[in-house]
Amino acid sequence: MRTATPVSEWLEANWSLDLTLAEWWRRLFDAGFAFPTWPEGLGGSKASNADSRTVTSALAAAGVIGPPAGNGPNMGGPTLIAHATPEQRQRFVAPMGRGQHQWCQLFSEPGAGSDLASLATKAERDGDEFVITGQKVWNSKADVSEWGMLLARTDPDQPKHRGISFIMLDMHQPGVEVRPLVQMNGAAEFCEVFITEARAKRTDVIGELHDGWNVARTTLTNERASAAAGRSRGLVTVAAGSAEGNLERPVGELIERSRKAVADPTKRFELLLNARKMIALAQEFGVADQPCVRDRLMRYHVHSEVYRLNGQRARDGARTAKAVPDGSMMKLDLAMLAHESRDLSLSLIGAEGMLAGDDAREHGRVQRAGLSSFVPSLGGGTNEIQRNIIGERTLGLPREAGSDGDIAFRDLRRS
Ligand SMILES: Cc1cc2nc3c(=O)[nH]c(=O)nc-3n(C[C@H](O)[C@H](O)[C@H](O)COP(=O)(O)OP(=O)(O)OC[C@H]3O[C@@H](n4cnc5c(N)ncnc54)[C@H](O)[C@@H]3O)c2cc1C
Repeated sequence: MRTATPVSEWLEANWSLDLTLAEWWRRLFDAGFAFPTWPEGLGGSKASNADSRTVTSALAAAGVIGPPAGNGPNMGGPTLIAHATPEQRQRFVAPMGRGQHQWCQLFSEPGAGSDLASLATKAERDGDEFVITGQKVWNSKADVSEWGMLLARTDPDQPKHRGISFIMLDMHQPGVEVRPLVQMNGAAEFCEVFITEARAKRTDVIGELHDGWNVARTTLTNERASAAAGRSRGLVTVAAGSAEGNLERPVGELIERSRKAVADPTKRFELLLNARKMIALAQEFGVADQPCVRDRLMRYHVHSEVYRLNGQRARDGARTAKAVPDGSMMKLDLAMLAHESRDLSLSLIGAEGMLAGDDAREHGRVQRAGLSSFVPSLGGGTNEIQRNIIGERTLGLPREAGSDGDIAFRDLRRS
């Protein structure tokens, strides 16, 4: 694996503010610096996590645009690297890793969220193709995605965890209708997707036919880990895909735009406020000398530090292969911290918490973060589901009781 010095040398020869984003991402991918832990030829060089962080730090220090961001790199790439054929990897992972394609995750349905294996979207065989019909919901970025990672039922005669297949769905085809949903924090990040006789090829199935649950577990593990990891500090991130027209723009223009967005309080998206901001709020609202407030501030500071240090432990442990906090634990703790941040900050500002937008201080920063605090406790699996996973897989407790394990999906009673 290359060290930080060659990354800097490589940047000197390859980075320029005049490059288009598409060209920059192609260079980053071909050099193996886009996703260093991935295999050679697929944007990486099989680097260790520690070496990968060295590359990320070098990119951040140079102020360049980081590799493509989103569902594809966070969870789709690792899933296909683990389960896809070499042909499928070249076909799907390479364009995604070069940022040409955005991916969305088409897992949840109105009747299948926590109990994902109850999903009812069906994919029926028609020669070398599948005909797919059903409804998905809460699908982040589905409106700007080229490909969807779809879970569909291909054999209803098997029990619910079997008979599911993981299929790459072309989002730009008749029969795929995407409707964005507005969240209570004002963002419209996720969508509902109506699928009516859409088509996929047999070669779009990842892993074995009917074994999609096994493939999806890899996706979900990576989703939890990336939700807990957060964004790389200092890296300019741009979403992958062609929908926003960024691929042909010069990287210099995109960096400038990103700087303006960071400085614009109305575009700020935070799940929680840090302890320093919390103390500043207590002082601003004249409550910093109240013993109960001081006690809560101290607890919040300690919880924030424990979360930060556990993240550090997870990253260092990954290098030394020690037992470390896993994605479920870190995601659960992040969700609990976000809720604590919401409750504390809103109690500090009192009645002002009822104001919104331009009427509120800092364009409603505290209020918006409070409304966003639900994201980590739902997306990627709820807190209760993380507790079940930790109980069963980390602590080795008996599995949750379930009566439908061996019953064919078509014979299950469904609401
Ligand atoms: C910001 C965000 C982004 C998302 N992005 C995507 C996406 O891109 N793609 C996608 O497919 N989905 C996505 N989701 C959906 C997400 O995965 C589901 O919301 C989540 O799995 C919960 O499912 P549900 O909303 O149907 O709630 P339900 O499953 O109906 O749960 C309702 C309540 O019951 C509790 N509960 C359910 N089962 C149990 C149990 N066995 N034990 C204890 N308690 C239980 C839950 O914890 C919850 O409190 C996203 C959600 C959010 C909030």
